[in-house]
Amino acid sequence: MPVTAASLERAALDSAVREIAAEMADRPDRGTVASYIPELAEVDPGRFALVVIDADGHVAAGGDSEAPFSIQSISKVFTLTLALGMAGDRLWAKVGREPSGSPFNSIVQLENEKGIPRNPFINAGAIAVTDLILARRQPREALGEILRFLQFLSDDTSIVIDAAVAASEQRTGFRNAALANYMRSFGVLENPVDFTLGVYFHHCAIAMSCRQLAQAGRFLAHLGANPATGMRVVSPERARRINAIMLTCGHYDGSGEFAYRVGLPGKSGVGGGILAVAPGKASVAVWSPGLDAAGNSHLGRIALEKLTRRMGWSIFGT
Ligand code: GLU
Repeated sequence: MPVTAASLERAALDSAVREIAAEMADRPDRGTVASYIPELAEVDPGRFALVVIDADGHVAAGGDSEAPFSIQSISKVFTLTLALGMAGDRLWAKVGREPSGSPFNSIVQLENEKGIPRNPFINAGAIAVTDLILARRQPREALGEILRFLQFLSDDTSIVIDAAVAASEQRTGFRNAALANYMRSFGVLENPVDFTLGVYFHHCAIAMSCRQLAQAGRFLAHLGANPATGMRVVSPERARRINAIMLTCGHYDGSGEFAYRVGLPGKSGVGGGILAVAPGKASVAVWSPGLDAAGNSHLGRIALEKLTRRMGWSIFGT
């Protein structure tokens, strides 16, 4: 095979992913697994996976790249995409698009801002987005739509909801119930609170592997379309805007630190996953279940920082 710039870049990517995965597997500092959702507390903090899919569809994978994990708040990227498709800019009457600077489940900010959540990625904002998707239908219909959307994006119908994780959160999600009831009192939520919360808990409990997640994120890296099929998911403008919200709000009050260190739009989940987008270059998924103080994957962020440095992928320059 002739040596081209593309083949050299691909070889550099393969070795970067392999070496970072090996280094992360050995590190003792793994953060703390989320325990407020009892089922998530059972996950082994020793797990690690990293998958990068480049513009040509080449997959560079390291660690447990096929192991499904709870995507949790990463699902909020896909519910936002769906809700924008359904409601367009009407959505922004119910949710802001400013970084919160507060923990992911903050109640106090919601009171100050009269029931309008700061952005679609904090819990309150994502619950409001879920309520828009529900649109007075039965929860099962809305949930089916969200799951089918992820299966379509990943080109993989084996993706399912982990019922045990959903039930675990439904039993213990008192704070999310408080946020939802509070928003309902302002008319921000329009459906029965139990219905909206049921859909929210279940879409957070979708289980995916890093490979499936990196595949699902490809449209965000390539101007709204899957480069493999040319299939358009959203307009280039919408992809750019979703990326902007991921950059500014995707890591709760750790978003500034993530931009500073990694320099890519990204969305984390308390299951320890992060989906990151290198515009025009690649879609990246990482998983390490231990979290830092802001509720973001500790080693996931470190692995992404190493990857973007080595590949020169930060959107702010090399
Ligand atoms: N389902 C979780 C919750 O509502 C999502 C939080 C996260 O992943 O950051 O608390």
